[in-house]
Amino acid sequence: MSLLRVEGLRKSFGGVQAVQDVSLQLEAGELLALIGPNGAGKSTTFNMVGGQLRPDAGRVLLDGRDITGLAPRALARLGVGRTFQIAQTFASLTVRQNVQMALLAQARATWRGWRRADAFRPEAAQALLAQVGLQGQAERPASELAYGDVKRLELALALAGEPVLLLMDEPTAGMAPAERVALMELVQGLARARRMGVLFTEHSMDVVFGQADRVAVLVRGQLLAEGAPEAIRQDARVQQAYLGG
Ligand code: ADP
Ligand code: MG
Repeated sequence: MSLLRVEGLRKSFGGVQAVQDVSLQLEAGELLALIGPNGAGKSTTFNMVGGQLRPDAGRVLLDGRDITGLAPRALARLGVGRTFQIAQTFASLTVRQNVQMALLAQARATWRGWRRADAFRPEAAQALLAQVGLQGQAERPASELAYGDVKRLELALALAGEPVLLLMDEPTAGMAPAERVALMELVQGLARARRMGVLFTEHSMDVVFGQADRVAVLVRGQLLAEGAPEAIRQDARVQQAYLGG
């Protein structure tokens, strides 16, 4: 059974059919890239999976369980995580304190968390920081981090929730090309090690064709193609509609 199954999602805004009958599948430990031109419906699809938007039609299944229309908080309890921008109030805290806050929030959110006393140990935060390569920055205020390291901290905060499915909308936006690949290589390694599925939207073709296991192409709200990166790269319809080849 697939970790994530999206079946026939639809969403309109007024007269605009933003997403029309989109179906996707994602396996544990894999990265699925959602690509397409601006306005193709990537974020809308993403927000329906993440509970920010309620679909007009269709279903979202996590491990076979219908999670359609659940709120982000309920989804978080089921293991659906999302990278997010660091809240202003966290900027003055150190990197380690940010992660500790996220671990405590997770512990409070679930009975499982309350029973897991290790959320309260400093070593738990340190271990997460090591996983994203920030162990050397633990005692610096988050506000002093370089942009690429802020992205790593966002990733650590999301991982504190122990997601089985991680949603990342344009995780590498604003990063230099080499940094983008490095971040998504890190995400790929974490996905493999944790058996975590990652759904992400991405503009950088280096990342899409380098790190994604599967690629889904949206054009004008419809799924144009879905498959392995190499097949997508060679698909004439994709080249015509999107890659400009
Ligand atoms: P992408 O992320 O691929 O750039 P979006 O999902 O953001 O595309 O947008 C798809 C279409 O839906 C666009 O035509 C956009 O203008 C429209 N749209 C998205 N969100 C809203 C909204 N909240 N209200 C009205 N129209 C929206
Ligand atoms: Mg978008």
